[in-house]
Amino acid sequence: AFVGQTTDAATGTASIIVNSEGQNVIVIVPGANLLLNVEDLNRASDVIRKAKVVVCQLEITPAVSLEALKMARASGVKTLFNPAPALADLDPQFYTHSDIFCCNETEAEILTGIPVGNLEDAGKVGHMLLGRGCKLVIVTLGAEGCMMISVEEPIPKHVPAGKVRAVDTTGAGDSFVGALAFYLAYYPKLSMEEMIRKSNCVASVSVQTSGTQSSYPYRKDLPQDLF
Ligand code: ADP
Repeated sequence: AFVGQTTDAATGTASIIVNSEGQNVIVIVPGANLLLNVEDLNRASDVIRKAKVVVCQLEITPAVSLEALKMARASGVKTLFNPAPALADLDPQFYTHSDIFCCNETEAEILTGIPVGNLEDAGKVGHMLLGRGCKLVIVTLGAEGCMMISVEEPIPKHVPAGKVRAVDTTGAGDSFVGALAFYLAYYPKLSMEEMIRKSNCVASVSVQTSGTQSSYPYRKDLPQDLF
């Protein structure tokens, strides 16, 4: 209901190059994405305020994403933030307005200066981001799954992903975040570790097919014990 067309800019695009190991490089041309503004947000405020979960990232103007997180928070809506594409000078309010802050290794390094190559590095990132005001931090680690850490349990915990043959990991992070949002909305009583484990499973299916959106499985094609 809140998607419109503009003649002032082209559709946002992302050109993706994938190597033989399934790793990618992405060139993002945001186009019309950067025209989304706070007025647009206000028009959708009823929907945002009644949602179970609001997911934000940085492919629109960061200040508009932050405003959406604040709007959600003010109505007690759970906020899940993915700082992608990463910004070195991210507004610190993003840390305090995200119930869950979920980044990948590259984003973690850009935000903290800590290069992430293993679980221990991810744990250091987690501690630093808790220090900046996050309540729960997830660092996704590709084939290794994720690291989670929270204010309540400030010891880094590894949530491994299953072993699969990756063909194209493009969009794995979005697949993970989307799955996590689903579990937060539909299975809020699951433990966070269980939600992350299930989200790892969904994302690990997406890396076994090429493409981004086209690699996301339908519910009917997933193991039914995920539901
Ligand atoms: P991004 O796409 O943002 O770089 P990651 O590469 O960290 O994110 O992947 C996100 C999630 O996708 C991981 O936490 C994991 O659950 C799953 N995943 C990614 N790569 C693989 C892989 N090679 N094997 C299994 N699961 C994977």
